[in-house]
Amino acid sequence: MAAPPAVADGRQQPRRRRWQADRSNQLPAAARRWRQLSFDGVKIDHFDPREKVVKETKKSPKLKFAHVAQVKYYLYLLELRGIKAATGQVEYPRQKRTTEVSLLAADRDTTIPGWLAEIERITQLEKCPEIVRKSYCRSCAFHDFCFS
Ligand code: SF4
Repeated sequence: MAAPPAVADGRQQPRRRRWQADRSNQLPAAARRWRQLSFDGVKIDHFDPREKVVKETKKSPKLKFAHVAQVKYYLYLLELRGIKAATGQVEYPRQKRTTEVSLLAADRDTTIPGWLAEIERITQLEKCPEIVRKSYCRSCAFHDFCFS
């Protein structure tokens, strides 16, 4: 869509604002729904503040347990920041599948604090643990970080 023509009689500002508002209404509803959140060193790519839903999109469900853990951790952090009862989804567009994720009492009370304690323990070690190369490491976003 072309920008509105500039006019020299002082009407340009209101017309431009109206045009920009019209454009934002043309965004697909799905794009308007999701916001990006950054806090506590994490970045949540898709958060719907109205429905309180976190969405992650992944290529393949091969590491589904890790994808679910990631979303549970986001829900846990949101809860710590006062956003209660948020839920999550992991979408696999290629497979046309979606996994629903909820933060359970056991996650909140035991599982996630256990992960955090383990991370803390590992970061306190004098030497890095032995590296364990898995087949899925090749397609992991952290590959260079772990193996270079
Ligand atoms: S590359 Fe590193 S972070 Fe990624 S799966 Fe392998 S060990 Fe884990």
